[in-house]
Amino acid sequence: MTPPWLVSSEGGVGPLGGPWQDVEGALRTVRNTVVRMVDPDAESVEADLVAGRIKCPGCGSGLRPWGHARVRPLRDHGSPSAMRPRRSICPPCVNSPGAQKTHVLLPKVALLRRADTSTTIGEALLAWHVEERPRREVAARAGVPIDTFRGWRRRFGQRADQIRVQFTELAHEWDPEQGAVTARAMPGLDALEAIGVAAQAAVRRFGADDAEPLWQLVAGASAGRLLCNTSSPLPRPP
Ligand SMILES: [Zn+2]
Repeated sequence: MTPPWLVSSEGGVGPLGGPWQDVEGALRTVRNTVVRMVDPDAESVEADLVAGRIKCPGCGSGLRPWGHARVRPLRDHGSPSAMRPRRSICPPCVNSPGAQKTHVLLPKVALLRRADTSTTIGEALLAWHVEERPRREVAARAGVPIDTFRGWRRRFGQRADQIRVQFTELAHEWDPEQGAVTARAMPGLDALEAIGVAAQAAVRRFGADDAEPLWQLVAGASAGRLLCNTSSPLPRPP
């Protein structure tokens, strides 16, 4: 069984208001970008988009191609590249007052507001919290300045309790037999444990063949908001 969000079904919906002509401008700012996380395989996303298989988070209709978002840099362990996420439009929502009309399709290799891949960031958090490597070594391995790594740590620490709770809930949803992940004195470590437990539950639920790479799963399940300063809860996979 393929998890429904493996392709694209979950989305993170950020605040966005104002008239239609403001949408283009608003999408240039990440804070207001309405994003759906999609598979990193651009060809399969394109095929799904054209076929209407990527659903609008607002109304469930098939999203349609609508140009591209801006090009954004993406580093993988320091190796620079760039990506240009696809943008989509929901025809029924265009005529629905107040509805979100367009959605950026962000590949799960990326996180919102971060120029480094989800794997780069996730592995650095593991190296710091679990392996207890020195910060300079972790930053060097991730290929980022030490200040960048410090920013990841700080934001992850701020969100750690929320991440622990929500990935624990996901683990229970995927495997009702799953025991609780209890909070201890180290929020970052607890959050990473909950992420690991959820990933294992996903494998039990969906099978190893359909298992996603860990940090791709996390990017998808958090709607790209693992390190976002947001008070809104993580969206739930349908
Ligand atoms: Zn819609």
